[in-house]
Amino acid sequence: MLSGMIIKGIGGFYYIDTSEGIYECKARGIFRKKKITPLVGDIVDISVVNEEEKKGVIEDIKKRESELIRPPIANINKAIIVFSIKNPQPHFSLLDRFIVLAEKEGLEVVIVINKIDLDEELEYENVKKVYNNAGYKVIPISTKKDINIQLVKDELKDSIVVFAGPSGVGKSSLLNKIDSNLSLETGSISEKIKRGKHTTRYAQLLKLEDGGMVADTPGFSSLTLDSIEPQDLKDYFIEFDDYADDCKFYRNCLHENEPNCAVKNALEEGKITNQRYESYLQLLNEIRKKNRRY
Ligand code: GDP
Ligand code: ZN
Repeated sequence: MLSGMIIKGIGGFYYIDTSEGIYECKARGIFRKKKITPLVGDIVDISVVNEEEKKGVIEDIKKRESELIRPPIANINKAIIVFSIKNPQPHFSLLDRFIVLAEKEGLEVVIVINKIDLDEELEYENVKKVYNNAGYKVIPISTKKDINIQLVKDELKDSIVVFAGPSGVGKSSLLNKIDSNLSLETGSISEKIKRGKHTTRYAQLLKLEDGGMVADTPGFSSLTLDSIEPQDLKDYFIEFDDYADDCKFYRNCLHENEPNCAVKNALEEGKITNQRYESYLQLLNEIRKKNRRY
């Protein structure tokens, strides 16, 4: 018995990356009966049916650590959220939305600010401060001028990563820079999302030359927060955690207009940034509008 990771699935065939190479496998009928569909990213045991042709059968699927819907991949553990400091300019509420979606999936979040070669006023330093303050690692880079690419590689090394972020910020350029074998068309990852609306497509995990795996499609292409309840949003603004236990209403405090709110006190003392707090209120109101119960 061999074990490995499913890196691609297409038409009922799964491609398993093992220590002995890549095997093309079908899944045992038992999975269909149990209504379990193997997912890209799954760690599986296979039995080899034909060594010469590298064919086998999936015998067992290990428990998943996470399961993303977009892209449909199991066991992703990190989201690298890419924004550019110019062209296009950062839209912070959108950045916070990506962060919320990644936090909800339990992923480690790393923020990359690209195109710092265009940033003569060093505006990225302020952005970095805000998100460092919230507790996130922020890596300012230039794909074009080759600045700090190694720091991004270090983040990928031992992880299964999904890149996320708006189109045009340089996600494909960055991935090409990380591993020239990928040769993704620039703009291609975002194109795939558009096509994905009309056709069924399969996600893939790409193995990087310097270590790590990356999803070939960006994460969270649907940016709706519909699946989040208003009272849960605060849990995805991780810097609130440090204070929320001291709110008069504890877990029930939405940190909005409640009396003796420790999060609002922290805001007034400058421990929580206005930018993030305003974003929180904006997203909270958006969720509420769709959720009549509140
Ligand atoms: P994606 O949609 O996020 O995959 O973005 P792309 O990789 O297609 O890049 C969008 C555009 O930004 C392309 O024209 C790239 O050449 C450009 N670009 C990417 N990285 C940088 C950078 O570090 N600096 C500058 N000035 N332009 C960049
Ligand atoms: Zn509160």
